[in-house]
Amino acid sequence: MPNKILLVDDEVSILKALERLLIRSGYRVFTAASGAEALQVLQQNNCQVVISDYRMPEMTGAELLARVKRLYPESVCLVLSGFSDFQSVLQLLNSGTAFRFLQKPWEDDHLLAEIAAAFQLYRHQRSERVRNQLLIAGNGALLELSPEAVILRSNGAAQQLLGQTAGGLSGTLFEQWFHLNDNQQQAFLQDIHGSMDVQTRSGETFELHVQYQDAEATLVGFKRLQQQDGPAAIYTSGLMDQHAVLQKLDSLLAQQRPFAVAAVRLKNFSDWADMLGFAEAGQLFETICQILMQACRPYGSLAYLANELFILTLPDAPDEVTVHRQLTDLLHKVRTQLEHQATALRPQFTVSYCMAPEDGDSAKGLLNNVLTSNRIHLHSPHAFFMRFSAGVADKKRQQLRISDALYSAVEREQFELYYQAKLDLHSNMIDSCEALLRWRHPELGMVSPALFIPIAEHDGQIIEIGLWVMRQACLSAVRWREQQQPLARMAVNISGAQLAQADFIAQVQRIFAETGVDPSMLELELTESWMMQDLTQSAQALQALKALGVRIAIDDFGTGYSSLAYLSRLPVDVLKIDRSLIQDLEANINTQSLVSNICRMAHALQVEVVVEGVETAEQLQLLRDMGCDLAQGYLVARPVAETEFLQKLRAPGQITGAD
Ligand code: C2E
Ligand code: MG
Ligand code: MG
Repeated sequence: MPNKILLVDDEVSILKALERLLIRSGYRVFTAASGAEALQVLQQNNCQVVISDYRMPEMTGAELLARVKRLYPESVCLVLSGFSDFQSVLQLLNSGTAFRFLQKPWEDDHLLAEIAAAFQLYRHQRSERVRNQLLIAGNGALLELSPEAVILRSNGAAQQLLGQTAGGLSGTLFEQWFHLNDNQQQAFLQDIHGSMDVQTRSGETFELHVQYQDAEATLVGFKRLQQQDGPAAIYTSGLMDQHAVLQKLDSLLAQQRPFAVAAVRLKNFSDWADMLGFAEAGQLFETICQILMQACRPYGSLAYLANELFILTLPDAPDEVTVHRQLTDLLHKVRTQLEHQATALRPQFTVSYCMAPEDGDSAKGLLNNVLTSNRIHLHSPHAFFMRFSAGVADKKRQQLRISDALYSAVEREQFELYYQAKLDLHSNMIDSCEALLRWRHPELGMVSPALFIPIAEHDGQIIEIGLWVMRQACLSAVRWREQQQPLARMAVNISGAQLAQADFIAQVQRIFAETGVDPSMLELELTESWMMQDLTQSAQALQALKALGVRIAIDDFGTGYSSLAYLSRLPVDVLKIDRSLIQDLEANINTQSLVSNICRMAHALQVEVVVEGVETAEQLQLLRDMGCDLAQGYLVARPVAETEFLQKLRAPGQITGAD
């Protein structure tokens, strides 16, 4: 990402001299001759560092920097002025508005060193903000570690899992809580997104993973794999361990014959332990080990790794049909023999397998792949035996890459807003649109929001991204109004995760105030599935949003619970019928009557109806006849960049059918 600086001075010769110096030093430089111009430049360009003269006509350096700090709290500001201004500048320095005072005339080396320090401060604050965001909004337990592996901060979930307060964790060593030797710890912390099963000092097993890392700290996520110490050591002494499995796989590979290796994880041991108590569940587990060991004999050998996870090597399974047959037989024996022992508990297994050498030509590779596959399918509701798929593992890795890249996408200016026009079916005019996010990733290319929004919601980046979207949408709305563009309303998508933030409303308020947008131009879209999660809570959150003066829309209506009954309980102004609901509109009389019923009932509640995904002239005509209020879809317009959208907006009323 280029290091961008904005220089503000009313003396052109100073601007020129500084610009030359900074460009030579590799910075991207923007210049402005007044405070007002500086604010305009900043609206279009995200400059990390701002250097301003102190004495300027109209807006002084102090006024400018105070506004810059309020609008762009992330930026680092420096004042460049004569020494006579020092006393006044002192106040700026003391209040934290300005980072440094640079004296005119300047020495090049000194000036460059101060600017380098400003960028360093920017990066430091930036990474701290990302970590804050994750600690506050990320899912699951997180610990923030210093490079020396001292715990700096923890979130509520981490405190709960470790049974400690924030103060009890902060300042302690990571190894005080997790059983890792120095080498393991070092290897783990260097492996971004790597994961590892580790026991705590109190004997519980946790899966740890490195969630985020920068030069100053690492965020380690963890979750409990089972309630109590696994029964491993007590009941599995007759089985091979990981080392022996690797040797076994090596020797099978050396024979150059196809074979299979399977990972079988007992999923519900911790439920048993909760239900029966640990000792009894442990005995049941021992029985399962013995049955498996016996049943395995005709087919191959059995190893136990940890966390109720077994590895079976099946040397005489050259094809998948045989693998399925052998595994079915094994698990059938476990189930029937448990039934003989008159236990009502049914074991549930996650089973995955690799075919060698196709799915891995080294012992480590095979074991890794079969374990990865097992981990991916652990929470799958299906009991089917899953073969390792390089495609699925790649997809998982891809998700991790996307998650990683999302942390810096706002800052790297990789996002853009597209706008999709909506046609008013009463006036046949286009005077509203929906802002849709687009991500141009330098390597991955155009990434669809349908793919990255769920990841950003899960990992917490949605907070920053959502605020960016809101800000850009407001700026566009204000700019277009200034240009006399006939835009009446702009819709912005909001994710439920954003509303769950305690300060979300305050942040939106701040954006409204800064941009000067008229909130009644905005329509915030929330999905039906979010609203239905907790009706009372949703109603409260929506009420608070509405108090800002915006309109509220239910997005994707028809994809979830789809009850019109709750419409009357929520302060909703608009209902957006999802495109899946109208796909067969022309052909299906039931769909027609469904849509027209929705429309009638919505209108009875004074709720406007927008139909999404309108692709054909026939659909449009039917929707018009049914009394729908607005149509959005490829027939009217695709989502496009600003310039193209404004052309649509300027030439309304032409949609009679074909696009
Ligand atoms: P959505 O809000 O329901 O947006 C409508 C989606 O349908 C858009 O996909 C749009 O391009 C697509 N679409 C519109 N007309 C047609 C049509 O006639 N045919 C077909 N096949 N598709 C049509 P897009 O832009 O890929 O966005 C997908 C989803 O990502 C959105 O669904 C929304 O849930 C989410 N999203 C997009 N931008 C944002 C954002 O800024 N914030 C949040 N939280 N979510 C966003
Ligand atoms: Mg939407
Ligand atoms: Mg939608």
